[in-house]
Amino acid sequence: METVKVAVRVRPMVAQEIQKGCREIIEVVPENEQIIIKNSDKAFTFNYVLGPTNRQEELYDKCVAPLLDNIFKGFNVTIFAYGQTGSGKTHSMGTAYIENGNDREVGVIPRIVQEIFNRIRDEFSIDFTITVSFMELYREVLYDLLANKPRDQCILEIREDIVKGIHIPNITEMSVESSRDILEVLVKGSLGRATASTNMNLHSSRSHCIFTINFCMQNKADKSQNKTAKLHLVDLAGSERPKKTGAQGTTFKEGVDINKGLFVLGNVISSLGDEKNQNNFIPYRDSNLTRLLKDSLGGNSVTLMIACVSPADYNLDETLSTLRYADRAR
Ligand code: ADP
Ligand code: MG
Repeated sequence: METVKVAVRVRPMVAQEIQKGCREIIEVVPENEQIIIKNSDKAFTFNYVLGPTNRQEELYDKCVAPLLDNIFKGFNVTIFAYGQTGSGKTHSMGTAYIENGNDREVGVIPRIVQEIFNRIRDEFSIDFTITVSFMELYREVLYDLLANKPRDQCILEIREDIVKGIHIPNITEMSVESSRDILEVLVKGSLGRATASTNMNLHSSRSHCIFTINFCMQNKADKSQNKTAKLHLVDLAGSERPKKTGAQGTTFKEGVDINKGLFVLGNVISSLGDEKNQNNFIPYRDSNLTRLLKDSLGGNSVTLMIACVSPADYNLDETLSTLRYADRAR
């Protein structure tokens, strides 16, 4: 089983880039799942590539739908959206869900949720118990986005012991029975996140957002067939380097902490994918992001990294850095 797959998605030019007179410098070669930087000798191959004309539905059908079986077999699945701020992470993942009647534009989360409940409805031999949690990791501090409490009382701890493995005491786990229930939780959590900051963009570009669906599957006929699984949908912090100017005080510290999570995640994923490194040490403990996801990265788990990039020349440095990160994960 290939445990880590990498998709690269190039979004269309946005108005701001067109206004600046930016040029498109990324070429997508779908037949070869390849990305080429125009007028250079740089080319990268991934498990999947999607270009500016590929729609949300194609991202879902090609990269995400094939993962669903794993959950029902009892394996943990983790999907990350990685990339610089403005590259399309939230758009692709669908973390900021707002009902506006435009179903064609919704991202991965609403689609996978719909598909999960379609399958549950058709599984007569299994009793499903589904719960959802929603967390935000900001400067290495973990917050519960579903607790009905002031933000400073929503701080969670990550614990690890031999019996329970990784667990988070007192986390809010909402029981859900339909895709509608889950989407309500998603909206509620997104609101909790937005009100935490006066500058939502700045805030969301610096925090990791982790939406988790827990599955408990009880076989009605044969209890020995009971299974559990977790699906994590993670909208990562922006991968851009902290700005050299003005990188002082809090801003600088934020940059350092966030890059630490992304940096360690890169190390963990690349050591998982390294066949020569099979029994080697995986540095899960080096960041809270990877501690939190320890039992869902590696082992019998399946990981999809959706690396998002801008097509514009203006963003070339960040795009190359994202492509290299994604290439290392593959
Ligand atoms: P991020 O979460 O990485 O900061 P966003 O998902 O917020 O970036 O995307 C930035 C902007 O680009 C948004 O206005 C979004 O609607 C637009 N966008 C991103 N990806 C696409 C896409 N594949 N197709 C159309 N618009 C997109
Ligand atoms: Mg975002």
